[in-house]
Amino acid sequence: MLIAGQWTDALDGQHIEVENPGRRIIVATVPRAQSADVNIAVAAAQKAFAEWRKVPPRQRGKLLLQIADKLDEQIEQMAHTIAMETGNAIRTQARPEATAAADIFRYFGGLAGELKGEQIPINESMLSYSRREPIGVVGAIIPWNAPVLLAALKIAPALCAGNSMVLKTAEDAPLGVLLLAKACDEILPPSVLNVLTGLGHECGAAMAEHPGILKLSFTGSTAVGKSIMQAASDRVAPVSLELGGKSPSIVFPDANDDWAVDGIISAMRFTRQSQSCTAGSRLFLHADIYDSFLEKLAQKASALKMGDPLDEATDMGAIINKKQFDKVCSYIDEGLSLPDARLVTGGMPDTEGPLSEGYFSHPTIFADASNDWRLSREEIFGPVLMAIRWNDEDEVVRMANDSHYGLAAFVWSRDIGQALRTAHRVEAGWVQVNQGIGQILGQSYGGVKQSGIGREYSLESMLDSFTQKKSVTVNLDIPKPE
Ligand code: ADP
Repeated sequence: MLIAGQWTDALDGQHIEVENPGRRIIVATVPRAQSADVNIAVAAAQKAFAEWRKVPPRQRGKLLLQIADKLDEQIEQMAHTIAMETGNAIRTQARPEATAAADIFRYFGGLAGELKGEQIPINESMLSYSRREPIGVVGAIIPWNAPVLLAALKIAPALCAGNSMVLKTAEDAPLGVLLLAKACDEILPPSVLNVLTGLGHECGAAMAEHPGILKLSFTGSTAVGKSIMQAASDRVAPVSLELGGKSPSIVFPDANDDWAVDGIISAMRFTRQSQSCTAGSRLFLHADIYDSFLEKLAQKASALKMGDPLDEATDMGAIINKKQFDKVCSYIDEGLSLPDARLVTGGMPDTEGPLSEGYFSHPTIFADASNDWRLSREEIFGPVLMAIRWNDEDEVVRMANDSHYGLAAFVWSRDIGQALRTAHRVEAGWVQVNQGIGQILGQSYGGVKQSGIGREYSLESMLDSFTQKKSVTVNLDIPKPE
């Protein structure tokens, strides 16, 4: 782990094993940090903050740009590491993630000059202005599904704004983030960034409760997000939460074409084994096109090449770990046992052959689904797509919004007026029309309802999440000295 500028073990010497889920073999061990390690990291970050906040913003930005250059040089090593520890296929996921992490540092590095306040025209004899000041030590907790990208999304804007950071990696995917930390460590002053590897209920909980952490930025499940918010409320610390989703994909009858089918596959994030909070996992298909669209979709989904994440030919890799794999299997099993559910493609994983050696789950589609089923309501975080029939526009919007989540949504129609009307009615932080791509830098991304609080990916996100505004008012009209 990186604590106080040193590469170090946990104080009590305990470790966590890291498994390659494509082969079910242990590839590394990392320190298992406890609250005592958190204390040291926070103290180091507090000390570093005092100096780092004084570094001129554009100088801080310059260092981030240097980190971006360094990350560019090691994209292949990073991609290989990510694929090995997450099971995400190297060509479709791991390499794009490594590339995106460098891009994130470059984007925020370039925004350092935009940490501006405002001047308010109150009257001629008063100067009123605001400053964007850093908050202090930020505690960041990330999941395993896009570990390096999500770490970059927290580190780059928080540090650019002048904060220092203690970041905890996810227990299942710490290696890529440690590589990222190494690149940062070679360029940043010591202790500005501290990276801990540890378990959620030990290291993560200790961070959430630590009085020295003045802001918590969390990406992960809604359940843990709530516990983070509770812990933060005790000291009224601000939180940013990027949580779960059960995102609707609404297909109108005029989109019964290959481009929409390809888009649905991308929106469902099948090539990430659908381990994405924005996965469009509830597919609302209009009755007029229901069967023919599903036929095309099943054909394309089943043609995805599943296999070794490190093989360039692989489209779709492995589920992260046994616990998630078993969870996905139990949802599939439930779908198979529902008399009204019709399996269109996929089903239970292979029990023999090469795919039985890792946690591989086929893209699975259930048709004739009800929006009320558990499979349609809970975030499965695996490649299980529920296809629900609709007839009436009001009805489909009502079903799409009948969820405690509100992260992403997708609308598919050639009629842009109709598509945009629907996009505006859907309760989600991010709606895509006729595409199902990933987040883009510059776009503020985040959820509504129980999908989260706060935004990421943009200048606005850096200002809102990682600075606090101070107002200064100055009387320009004091009497002349006697
Ligand atoms: P996922 O299901 O994607 O693993 P989690 O919300 O369980 O989502 O995990 C996301 C991150 O939150 C991980 O780094 C994990 O270690 C951490 N975490 C889990 N439980 C807690 C907790 N009680 N307090 C703080 N962090 C936690």
